[in-house]
Amino acid sequence: MGVVTRPSAATDALVLRAWPCGETSAIASLLTRDHGYVKVIAKAARRPLSTLRPLVEPGRLVSVEFSLDPVRELQYLRGGSVELDPLGPAPTLELSAYLLGALELVDRCRPAGALVRDDPGGAAELFGVCDAFLRMLSSGAGSEPVVVFFAFEWELLDRHGVSPELSRCCTCGASRESVPVATRRFSAAEGGLMCGECARGGADEGCRALGDEALAVFDALEGGGLDGARGLALTPVGRREVGGHLHRFLGYHLPGYRLPAALDLLRAGKASAS
Ligand SMILES: [Zn+2]
Repeated sequence: MGVVTRPSAATDALVLRAWPCGETSAIASLLTRDHGYVKVIAKAARRPLSTLRPLVEPGRLVSVEFSLDPVRELQYLRGGSVELDPLGPAPTLELSAYLLGALELVDRCRPAGALVRDDPGGAAELFGVCDAFLRMLSSGAGSEPVVVFFAFEWELLDRHGVSPELSRCCTCGASRESVPVATRRFSAAEGGLMCGECARGGADEGCRALGDEALAVFDALEGGGLDGARGLALTPVGRREVGGHLHRFLGYHLPGYRLPAALDLLRAGKASAS
């Protein structure tokens, strides 16, 4: 009998979710750099000495090898190594909540281009955003986790081609400079900055005030995405405003979005601490 070479893939991946399968195995859903979203089965990964076990922990960046059979829904995880464990050295509640929140968003809101058969470049780009997010979040050097998370949400909107309009009123087109600060609004439904006249005219009853701090943060994110978040610090008021605007915006424009359950954990933690 000749040796049959089975097709396989070797690529970097982010572990999005994992769940038990059978007595000792695990299934993991991965976002890979070269093959988009892939689901793998890790045989016997729940045995204590399994070498596959460290490769199926959600939130880790791994370098993995798996079977590549286009007709199968599940590929076999064969081996690999851990590249980055963001929760490794000093996990905090905040860090884990934003990490898990981001994984939920990536798992639930999949841009069309993140499937390799649609657009290989799109999949690699989405993986690149996740990779940069994890490295920035775990380095602790860039910014507070919440700011890094906001930047990640912005990048995700960008991948979907729906980031907010900031340079003019998204309804009448009046330039931002012509809109008095006191009447400036943010409309999630209409897609960004809104002038006071459009707001009074009923263009979006759900629009909210857009303050200088929030607008400056949005400008930084529009200009540089995750890089734009480097060194940004927010006041508690700014943080609530930016978080609220982004949450409503994502709700309107990102198919499949809902507030990640992981962020509820954070709120519960804060309530019990205060
Ligand atoms: Zn207007």
